[in-house]
Amino acid sequence: MEGAVRTRLDRVERLHDLTLPLLRDGLEMCGAHRRSEPGFRYATLDQYPADAERRVYETVLGIRAWPTVLMVISGSAAERAGLMSGDYITSVGGVTVPGGQPGRDTIAAVTRRWPAGSAMSVQVERDGTAVALRYSPETVCDYDVALTEDDEINAWASGDAIHVSQGLMRFRMSDAELQAVLAHEVAHNSEGHLAEITSNLVLTGLRGAVRDAAAEAADPPSRVEFSRTQEHEADYVGMYYLARAGIDTGNVGQVWRRLAAENPDDVRDRGQSTHPSLPERFLRLEATHREITLKLEAGLPLLPNRTRDGALIVPRVG
Ligand SMILES: [Zn+2]
Repeated sequence: MEGAVRTRLDRVERLHDLTLPLLRDGLEMCGAHRRSEPGFRYATLDQYPADAERRVYETVLGIRAWPTVLMVISGSAAERAGLMSGDYITSVGGVTVPGGQPGRDTIAAVTRRWPAGSAMSVQVERDGTAVALRYSPETVCDYDVALTEDDEINAWASGDAIHVSQGLMRFRMSDAELQAVLAHEVAHNSEGHLAEITSNLVLTGLRGAVRDAAAEAADPPSRVEFSRTQEHEADYVGMYYLARAGIDTGNVGQVWRRLAAENPDDVRDRGQSTHPSLPERFLRLEATHREITLKLEAGLPLLPNRTRDGALIVPRVG
């Protein structure tokens, strides 16, 4: 059980570590969808049912009734300030933190809306000693990242979050390869693709389907079908998220090729796959890589090409 809990936490931490640069450096591309990022995640013991898993959280990870730091995101302001896993949070932003769910709610409420650029105090108890930290949380795109339990190799977007399966995390991928997938999902969200689908369904009178799509976007989430155009847009904008975070975009086609090899239905089944991997997709990814490379060389802003109305101008191929 300890191994299972640690493996899961390591994967969640990896997802947060790899998503943060995309959400931070892509801020200019996600409009009003922004929040303050405290740089840490926390838990209280009452979140876990009283079984073997809870004992691991209590005895091995030191989680208590008080909000306890479960992980500190790599490269975050909290990490630079010296916050550590296992710290008990006693106050945040000058607000005293109670135990249990009210404590978690307090931290969420205070940190989420923390004003950009202003320093936040965080008081913790570490090894029985009070420690006072102070740092300015970053402003990032407001998309959470969640690990789901299913074994299928996939990732998907639900409007306000991105979801990655255990199956994908088990699949051997470098950090940059996994970030290519994460960036594609972030782009679905920031381009408002889910809202486009649900509003189209409302327009055509399929109200039952709308409810289903919304339910599927919740927990446990399942996939909502995006259109081909939306997939092209997510590929295109996703590569800009990567480039802005300083990640090479030259390998993105290879990432989707590898995933297609694991999900051959994506290649065969033209109409019904979330990430159809057909030859024109790879040509478009290569064209986008060239576009980004030229902008980098010319020192131009790394933003997707758009019409005056804001519509994306995705490279044409074929
Ligand atoms: Zn997609």
